[in-house]
Amino acid sequence: MEFRLLSDGKAKEAIETLEKEYKDSHYYLNFRTPVDLVAAAILSAQTRDEVTNSVTPELFKRYRTAKDYAYANEEELIGYIKRITFAGNKARNMIKTFKTIEERYNGKVPDSMEQLLELPGIGRKTANTILINAYGIVEGIPVDTWVIKLSGRIGLSKSRDPDDIEQDLMKTVDRRYWKNITYVFKNHGKKICQSQVPVCSACMISRICPRNGVTKSK
Ligand code: SF4
Repeated sequence: MEFRLLSDGKAKEAIETLEKEYKDSHYYLNFRTPVDLVAAAILSAQTRDEVTNSVTPELFKRYRTAKDYAYANEEELIGYIKRITFAGNKARNMIKTFKTIEERYNGKVPDSMEQLLELPGIGRKTANTILINAYGIVEGIPVDTWVIKLSGRIGLSKSRDPDDIEQDLMKTVDRRYWKNITYVFKNHGKKICQSQVPVCSACMISRICPRNGVTKSK
């Protein structure tokens, strides 16, 4: 199927409609502090949110500061996160990331994109997530797998590269929606624009969407 990019006007209409429909969307991982959020974000890679959220209450009780993670006993840390995929790798990543935060930033999770991107294992998606949800700083849009999939289907970006998609979205999506659009897309993907077969007949933007009725997944 030939890719069709939506016009600016149609793209704005699609976003407005989805924003209205999923107005209660919010970040899906539980956390109390920026340190918790960094830990949860590392754990969440290729892991369902419910699984991540099921291990973090006990984890957050035991590890509260960057220092706690930086000097954690690796085996003990793995014990807290063993239900998570790649627990061993993730425990090592957490220790490495928090060691940098502890040594370079005196234990405070940085609040700038540039500094966050220098941390081991933190890419733009996680950096945007931390800035938005821990500090209320909106510099960009976290591009996760749902954003990649739906941006292509809806005709907001023809790229599959997360950085290019973020740039495309930042041009068309009104800035006031940047902080929430990721979670709006996720809700729409889970409820209607499902991964394998989108339910276009139930979709509130089917009139606009170039992939309406095309069942082949992409
Ligand atoms: S019309 Fe279909 S493909 Fe397009 S956003 Fe809606 S469910 Fe997804």
